[in-house]
Amino acid sequence: MQDCIFCKIVAGKAPSWKVYETDRVYAFLDINPVNPYHTLVIPKSHYKDIYDVPEGDLRAISSVIKYLTTLYQEKLGIRNVQIINNSGKEAQQDVFHIHFHIVPRHLGDGQNIHWETHPEMRDKFDQM
Ligand code: 5GP
Ligand code: ZN
Repeated sequence: MQDCIFCKIVAGKAPSWKVYETDRVYAFLDINPVNPYHTLVIPKSHYKDIYDVPEGDLRAISSVIKYLTTLYQEKLGIRNVQIINNSGKEAQQDVFHIHFHIVPRHLGDGQNIHWETHPEMRDKFDQM
């Protein structure tokens, strides 16, 4: 995909801070990190989102996420992490080449993902 920044990164036509790669997957530091070692894991082929990506690529991405979180634990002592994928504009996806965020977390990092919860929706579980 010509206009895709992540395709350009994979092709070496845009700079990136590579962490790891396999034949199918590329991992690099997020340019606007939430915390140190905030990493993006992407397929080398262009797929838009979770609906678009084939299962094989998703498995390959999953293996790299497991590998890197283990590596960060062993080498850096990172033991708290959020794995995030946003798929779709209304789900706050900004770059439309599927990616998984590995966001290391630690006490006092000033970050906070806060969900508004709706216990009253339990009434609708049977319908759902
Ligand atoms: P999204 O909101 O789509 O889940 O996340 C997109 C992420 O890609 C953001 O965290 C953003 O900082 C990152 N990003 C956007 N452009 C670039 C880039 O050119 N290089 C790198 N390394 N990260 C990028
Ligand atoms: Zn792409």
